[in-house]
Amino acid sequence: MISVDEAVEKVLEHIDVLEAEESPVLGCLGQVLAEDIFSPINIPPLDNSAMDGYAVRSADTRGASRKSPRFLRVIETVTAGAIPECEVKPGTAIRIMTGAAIPEGADGVVRFEYTDESERQGTPQEIGILTEVEPGSEVRRAGEDITAGSLVLRKGTVIRPAEVGVLASLGRSKVMVIRRPVVAILATGDEVVDIAQPLPQGKIYNSNSYSVAALVLRYGAIPKLLGIASDSEDSLLARLRLGQDADMVITSGGVSLGDYDMVREVLAKQGEIVFWQVRQKPGKPLVFGVFRGMGRGGGVRNIPLFGLAGNPVSAMINFELFARPAILKMMGRKNLVKPTVEVVIEDTIKNTDGRRIFARAIVEKRGGQYFARLTGPQGSGILTSMALANGLVVIPEDKPGVKRGDLVKVMMLDWSEEVE
Ligand code: AMP
Ligand code: MG
Repeated sequence: MISVDEAVEKVLEHIDVLEAEESPVLGCLGQVLAEDIFSPINIPPLDNSAMDGYAVRSADTRGASRKSPRFLRVIETVTAGAIPECEVKPGTAIRIMTGAAIPEGADGVVRFEYTDESERQGTPQEIGILTEVEPGSEVRRAGEDITAGSLVLRKGTVIRPAEVGVLASLGRSKVMVIRRPVVAILATGDEVVDIAQPLPQGKIYNSNSYSVAALVLRYGAIPKLLGIASDSEDSLLARLRLGQDADMVITSGGVSLGDYDMVREVLAKQGEIVFWQVRQKPGKPLVFGVFRGMGRGGGVRNIPLFGLAGNPVSAMINFELFARPAILKMMGRKNLVKPTVEVVIEDTIKNTDGRRIFARAIVEKRGGQYFARLTGPQGSGILTSMALANGLVVIPEDKPGVKRGDLVKVMMLDWSEEVE
C-alpha cells in the first residue's frame, strides 16, 4: 500500500500533456494557450474620448469657471465609430460622444457637466465652458491598453473570461490551445443498472458514472460514457475496448478483494498495474495502471486507467485526489493542488488504522475564522454526504485523530486550484 502523496506522484509520472489544436475562442475557457499572442493592432486604435462632452483646445479653456465661462462655437457632433470631419480651430469645439475619435486640433474633452449645455435648447451653436481642462484631459490614447506588435498573452496562459475578452479585442476568433482530454467512463457490477431503466429488486442505479462524468466536465475534459460492464472478464474487456481511443479510462467498482472484482486482472492482462491500494479512507482499493488499447490507425496506445473504488463517496474522492490532477496536467495546467484552509473542527474524528482520512465537512466562516463540522454519518456509501459537503477534512495518516476545537486542514472542493 502506498501513500496518497506517492500515488499522486506515480500517476503524474504517467501523464503527458496533450497536443495543441485550433479552437473557437469561446470554446477555450479553462484551456491553456499553445501560442504566444501578439497584437496586430493598437487598442484603442485611435485617440478617443473617455466621456460625453466637448472636444476643445485646452488653451481655449484658460480662466474658464462657472462665474466666467469661455464661449466656443460648436462646429460638429462626432459619435462613437465616426471620424470627425472638421478640425478644432481656436475658439471652436466639437460635441463628442464616449469612444469617438478626438478631432484634429483638440487636445482635451470637457464633460457635459462642466458646460452650460443643459441650459440650452437642442443642439447648441455655441457652448459655455465652465472649467479649465489640462491637455490630455478625458482623452484615451491610441495604444494605451495594447500597442501593435506587442506580446499580449503568453503561451501557457490559462484562458479565463478576461483572456477570452482580450483575444476578442484583437479580433481573434480562433486560437491554438492544448486540447481537452476525452475520458472514457465505465461502471462495473452485476447489481448496477442504468438510470433510464426501472429498478429491479436487489439492484442499484449507476450513480458513479454520472458523478465522475460531472467531475470530468467540471475540470474541463470530455466524458464518454461506456455504460455498465457485468462482473466478468469478457464483459469488462469488451466495454473497455470501446474506450480505447480515449485519453484516459476511469472505471468504478470491482477493485476490492471480492470474488468478482475483475478490474485488476483485466488491467494486468491488457496492460500494466502501476499501483493498487492507497493508504487513505475512504478510497483505499484504487488501482492505477496503463491499459493497452488499439488506436484507430492500428497502433498500440497506452491509456492511463483509474480503477476507482466502487463505493460512491470513495469513487468521487479517488477522482478528486488522482484523476483530477491527471486531467489538468494533460490540459497543460500547472496548478494541480486543491486549496486547503485551516479550520477549527467542531467534531471529534478518530484515525484508528494509520490511513489519511478525508471526512466530508461543511465549512463556514464566522468572525474571520473558518469552522468545519461533519456532514453526518461518514460511510463510503453515503453519497448525500458529498452533496452536503463543501470540503474534506484531512487527517494525516500519522495522527491518531482530532478532537473538537483542534485546528485542522480542509481541502476545499468547490475552490479552483491553488496558484503556486
Ligand atoms: P465493489 O467494489 O464493486 O464491490 O463496489 C463497492 C460498492 O459500491 C458496492 O456496494 C457497489 O454496489 C457500489 N457500486 C459499485 N459501482 C457502483 C456504481 N456505478 N454506482 C453506484 N454504486 C456502485
Ligand atoms: Mg462490484
